[in-house]
Amino acid sequence: MDNDFGRRRGDGSHTTGLANNTNGATSASGMANGHSALAGSGTLGVEAIVLDIDDTLYLERDYVRSGFEAVGRWAQRELGVDDFAERAWTAFENGSRNTIFDEVLTACGAPTGDAVITEMVARYRTHPPSIVLAADAEAGLDRWHGAAALAAITDGPLSSQQAKARALGLERWTSTVVFTASLGPGKGKPDPAAFELVQEELGVDGKSCVYVADNPAKDFVGPKALGWRTVRVRRRLSLHADVESGSDVDHEITTLEQLDTALAP
Ligand SMILES: [Mg+2]
Repeated sequence: MDNDFGRRRGDGSHTTGLANNTNGATSASGMANGHSALAGSGTLGVEAIVLDIDDTLYLERDYVRSGFEAVGRWAQRELGVDDFAERAWTAFENGSRNTIFDEVLTACGAPTGDAVITEMVARYRTHPPSIVLAADAEAGLDRWHGAAALAAITDGPLSSQQAKARALGLERWTSTVVFTASLGPGKGKPDPAAFELVQEELGVDGKSCVYVADNPAKDFVGPKALGWRTVRVRRRLSLHADVESGSDVDHEITTLEQLDTALAP
């Protein structure tokens, strides 16, 4: 999900169009990192491996914790609340989601007005996150790089998703990162727009692509409709780990070490 734990409000910043590469360079052919989109289809069984980010390449709960700490530093400084991050994390672990900021401030007797929540949400979304790739994700990206075109498609507020891509260093491996928030309203998953865009960018057809992601509720409908293969990674401690896969999932794996075998013809 989008990781906003204050009352939800519009973001209004998603008008920048496709973000090619996380460093802002453009590439129309998927060759930005020196490989062809057509490379290696014999070994992996696909020409393009397209990955979700949250809970696919790293554990989203690590981003949540990092965000709470950033917000907590602000709350300590501006509101005199000393233990915001700890309290927010406890609420998160207890299953709270969209109202954590309000809940914690209320419990602390601190103000919960719109201006405060807006500031906290902004701090959360724009903080430089302390997150790292899962070991199997980093090893996989190294292994697939050069053997297939690599790209990412991610939903969520543009500022936070860009900060995640930057922190994870995805530009080292990927030709294209599509932030669906930049495509306009209604173009997030499950809409197929981002998947069509990746096909165009990489110059590949749907049956040559696989989407690897974690959320059965929205991740696989779009690519499946375009003829993509779909692989669900069901990580321990991921936010959707308890949700069963639907019929639009071709393979379910628990670590990206298993992707190569899942894709083998
Ligand atoms: Mg995800």
